[in-house]
Amino acid sequence: MDKKRVVVVGGSFGGINAAYELRRRLPRDAEITVISRDAAFTFMPSLLWVIMGWRDPSQLQVPLDGPLQRRRIRFVQDEVKELDPQRGEVRTSSAKFPYDALILCPGAELDYAAVPGLDPKYGHIHSTFTIDEAVQSRNALAKVLASDSGRIVIGAVAGASCIGPAYELVMMIDTVLKRARKRHRFSLAFVTPEPYLGHFGVGGIGASPRMIQDEFAERHIDSTVNAKIVEARPGSLTLADNTELPFDFSLVIPAFLGSPFVRAVEGLGNAKGFIPVTPHLSSAKFGNIYAAGVAVAIAPPGVTPVPVAVPKTGHLSESMARIAARNVAAEFSGGKMLDGLTLPMTCIADAGDTAFYMSADPFLPPRNKIVTKRAKWARYMKIAFERYYLAKVRHDLPSVHFGW
Ligand SMILES: Cc1cc2nc3c(=O)[nH]c(=O)nc-3n(C[C@H](O)[C@H](O)[C@H](O)COP(=O)(O)OP(=O)(O)OC[C@H]3O[C@@H](n4cnc5c(N)ncnc54)[C@H](O)[C@@H]3O)c2cc1C
Repeated sequence: MDKKRVVVVGGSFGGINAAYELRRRLPRDAEITVISRDAAFTFMPSLLWVIMGWRDPSQLQVPLDGPLQRRRIRFVQDEVKELDPQRGEVRTSSAKFPYDALILCPGAELDYAAVPGLDPKYGHIHSTFTIDEAVQSRNALAKVLASDSGRIVIGAVAGASCIGPAYELVMMIDTVLKRARKRHRFSLAFVTPEPYLGHFGVGGIGASPRMIQDEFAERHIDSTVNAKIVEARPGSLTLADNTELPFDFSLVIPAFLGSPFVRAVEGLGNAKGFIPVTPHLSSAKFGNIYAAGVAVAIAPPGVTPVPVAVPKTGHLSESMARIAARNVAAEFSGGKMLDGLTLPMTCIADAGDTAFYMSADPFLPPRNKIVTKRAKWARYMKIAFERYYLAKVRHDLPSVHFGW
């Protein structure tokens, strides 16, 4: 086989796992390059623990240069600005990277502009997708929690996909307030585009809707479903039906848009810039371009009154990336290609004092297997999993999926 060049865009759950899997599967002389805007991997699920003051940001990051170079994977910290499928080349502002196969794992852009006033830069609504956003949220929340009373609104906009963290955060805040014996002086409200609680963009996971509804009732968390947030102003969120939700602290999950360099290539992304793929995870239009994780277009399992997008969780992103890498290797060597679109998904939602373990196979209904449990052990699993995962990124440990 000729010497092959594979470029991976993204240094997170998708990109790192794709690169490690390529190194295991491709001949020794294959050139693997990872290009990522960020110098370090960030374990995003723990950003919520930064907001709660339970983690320091430095505990969640792994610089990528060393671990990748030790595995003979070239690491370039830069932003991909252009992709030219005809020439087989990606470009940053200073260099060109030709490829025989490309694996795209650039996640998404945060579409704050879709709702006036939503962008955390205005300072009244908070978010949780970067260390900086989590630290800003932590500082603002700490002030409100230190007061005698307050109104807290947590939620997601129409079209959001990553709604799980909003559930976790509102339950963690409830836990902290109860521990401080102040819960009776605070209101907690949850606002979501989902048609019912526990839908999560996948039509629910087994008993999850009932479990979450009971949990919210026991925790006195008010909820508004089928909600469309149309404006955010200092101290108040406005819904499409003119309901006003006043707050002293609010964190709202935005919708996503595909990466700008993907949107710029005719026929690569859908209207929002997410990449439609074949079951083998290659682009429906360009056969040597693969995609994994948040960047992939996955249609919702059903229509909802207010749009809700499918979550491509960390576990799913990693599994897709490993399959995309194996399929690239199979394409080079003529081996068997694997299905990367009907994968299982496990996820643990932390509630501060307990947690929800949810596992679905496949991740979209109808499914062959579902497990949903509410238990303290699930919380300990999630805590252990964070330690394991950071070590996995440093040392390319084998994949296990017990504790997302
Ligand atoms: C607060 C929070 C909590 C979460 N909790 C969980 C959880 O408990 N369980 C779970 O399974 N999932 C969870 N998730 C979801 C999980 O983090 C995502 O599924 C995962 O990060 C997706 O990985 P990805 O590699 O597809 O994309 P991303 O993580 O978004 O990474 C994209 C990568 O691409 C790089 N990049 C982007 N554009 C470019 C460009 N133009 N050029 C070069 N590089 C670029 C970025 O720097 C980054 O390295 C959570 C997410 C958040 C925000």
